[in-house]
Amino acid sequence: MPRKKVKEKGPKIGPLSGYLRSQYIKCGRANCHCRADVGHGPYSYRIVRVSGQRRKQYVRKADLSTVRARIDAQRRQSAAVRQMNQEALDDWRELKAQLRQLDQLLNPAGR
Ligand SMILES: [Zn+2]
Repeated sequence: MPRKKVKEKGPKIGPLSGYLRSQYIKCGRANCHCRADVGHGPYSYRIVRVSGQRRKQYVRKADLSTVRARIDAQRRQSAAVRQMNQEALDDWRELKAQLRQLDQLLNPAGR
């Protein structure tokens, strides 16, 4: 059987943090139509927080669906991690309650 090459998951398809926003832009030229109407666009941006600061990164139209999919992947991953953390916390609480019961059984006088 021929061995298939395993493609490494590169940053191009990995999860991506942040969220998408679209915006109209006014170019600032004195006689441009955008002075009077909504402006040019809409252009898409990925908003991401980097060390507490909001950063805006332009997303090309050609990349939009990929970036959106990667952001969705990140969101799903975060939700899965939150769920796992919650379950671990629930398990821990249950274990603690059981330990307390066991402790009371072994030491009913509470010495
Ligand atoms: Zn303009």
